[in-house]
Amino acid sequence: PRAFNFSAGPATLPEPVLRQAQEEMLDWHGVGASIVELSHRGPEFMGVAAEAEADLRKLIGVPDDYAVLFTQGGATAQQALIALNFADPGQPADYVISGHWGKTAIKQVKPYVDARIAASSESDGFRTIPDRATWTLSDDAAYVHITANETIHGVEFRDTPDVGAAPLFADFSSSIASEPIDISKYGLIYAGAQKNLGPVGISVVILRRDLLERAGQPRADIFDYRSQLKGESMLNTPPTWNWYLAGLVFKWMLAEGGVEEFARRNARKSALLYSVIDGSGGFYRNEVGPAVRSRMNVPFFLHDEALDKPFLKQASEAGLISLKGHRALGGMRASIYNAMPEEGVQALADFMQGFRKRHG
Ligand code: PLP
Repeated sequence: PRAFNFSAGPATLPEPVLRQAQEEMLDWHGVGASIVELSHRGPEFMGVAAEAEADLRKLIGVPDDYAVLFTQGGATAQQALIALNFADPGQPADYVISGHWGKTAIKQVKPYVDARIAASSESDGFRTIPDRATWTLSDDAAYVHITANETIHGVEFRDTPDVGAAPLFADFSSSIASEPIDISKYGLIYAGAQKNLGPVGISVVILRRDLLERAGQPRADIFDYRSQLKGESMLNTPPTWNWYLAGLVFKWMLAEGGVEEFARRNARKSALLYSVIDGSGGFYRNEVGPAVRSRMNVPFFLHDEALDKPFLKQASEAGLISLKGHRALGGMRASIYNAMPEEGVQALADFMQGFRKRHG
């Protein structure tokens, strides 16, 4: 039997998707070869790619004046490319830092733009989101960048902030498709697939088409979003396996009821875990401000670090794996993306209560 896998990414995939991929591995739709053995420019894969885009558009409600790109290089490459594509050399770009990934985002653009920290919650250990009223935004910023959900620190934006004239750019790597969002409030969103969308190796970038009129900075064709769009995200050989699997995940999410349904499930799953943590009399603790706690990534600590190893060992024996926290924070982390079923979170909640009784 499969374990319940709480990895933050690469993360668990829906079992029906894995089964379908397994079935289609030797012979995709009767062509006598798997989809990953066929040319990306052939009708079979071009069909898979077009369907994936159409399904993603439907799933998360991408407006017609937005383009969708399927890219390589992970979310980190997009963090750099947004500056090359949309900011003039040395132009200010504003960053709101609410965790580790906001810091990597600003690091990627420092060679290209005047990267400014508009607000940061680092001084409180990234346990909050900086209050919008305290942000210092530049008049001439190319864009304002936020991280919608901080995968390591477990904090998330609950609302889309109003940032005035500059377009809002957001890293949605760990929360895309987890709830409905109004994409028209953003200039650009990007996400590595390996949490909510599929296997690692492909990312999606969704951007307002008019932004492509900006000159940006000297860059190679392969790093140019305009060229990527013109070339249908196939300027070079794309990661066809990852694209195909992501397409199956989109179909699965649509069949399960779409992002509205996942938002309901994710609210129940996260509420259950936080209630076990908060109701444990200090045996477990989560330090994030309740109003901004992530519904995707639940970091928590045991009251005594000496219990970390037995917790992980017993959890793994109970079929609950990948609960070790990120090395930057220590402790534990349960990532509970769309593909984590409610039974998995219930099993973890039951295990945590049992462990507390045995060791409390
Ligand atoms: N942004 C967020 C929010 C992440 O969680 C991660 C990875 O875990 C990244 C960016 C980096 O993604 P990648 O490894 O695809 O470059």
